[in-house]
Order: sequence, then C-alpha cells, then structure tokens
Amino acid sequence: MSGSFTRRVEDFVCVKCGAKTRGDGYTNHCPKCLWSLHVDVSPGDRAEDCGGAMRPVAVEDKGGKRSIVHVCDKCGVTRRCRTSPNDDPEAIYALARSAAEGVIGRRRGRPE
Ligand SMILES: [Zn+2]
Ligand SMILES: [Zn+2]
Repeated sequence: MSGSFTRRVEDFVCVKCGAKTRGDGYTNHCPKCLWSLHVDVSPGDRAEDCGGAMRPVAVEDKGGKRSIVHVCDKCGVTRRCRTSPNDDPEAIYALARSAAEGVIGRRRGRPE
C-alpha cells in the first residue's frame, strides 16, 4: 500500500463472465453473475492478498437486508456481502433457487 488514504473507486472486469463493472468503492461483486473477488479483509479495504474468485453460493434475507454468501474458490473462506441495487434480480433469483435445490438435493442424499 502506498500510504494514501483516499478510497479508490475502481472499475473492474468480472473474473467469471467478463462483464465490466463500475466500482463504487464498496461493492466488488459482479451485478450480472454475482461472482466476487477475495480482495477485502473488511469491505472496501482491499487489504486481502488472496485474490481468489469468490463463488456465490446462497442468498440470505435477514432483518430486511439481503446478502449474497460467497465462498472463495482459492482459500475456501466464506463471506457475506450486501446486494447492490445494480445487481441483476434474475441472477439473485437464480442463485436463491439453485441454493435451495442444492439443499434439497443433499437432504435426499443424492449421490455425486
Ligand atoms: Zn460476472
Ligand atoms: Zn481467498
């Protein structure tokens, strides 16, 4: 880190689908496919050097706030991040649905 305290607002290109996203300094997940990058220790600090791609695995609704649960493909850490108004509602819906189906699948003991 260079010693500057200015929050950097960076545009980024999604590691998964290649969509170009305008960063807001906080959100770093892709609004199209919801994948993220493991770059923050606390949201927006870019202090993590893992840099792995973070897979969206679930949607959580708690106290009227919606979060996406991400798991890092590289180090396996689980993170929650607030959804953004820019997120594709269909992508959120598809994620919530596939997460629910995954749970049902496991409960049925479906063999891999
Ligand atoms: Zn994407
Ligand atoms: Zn990681």
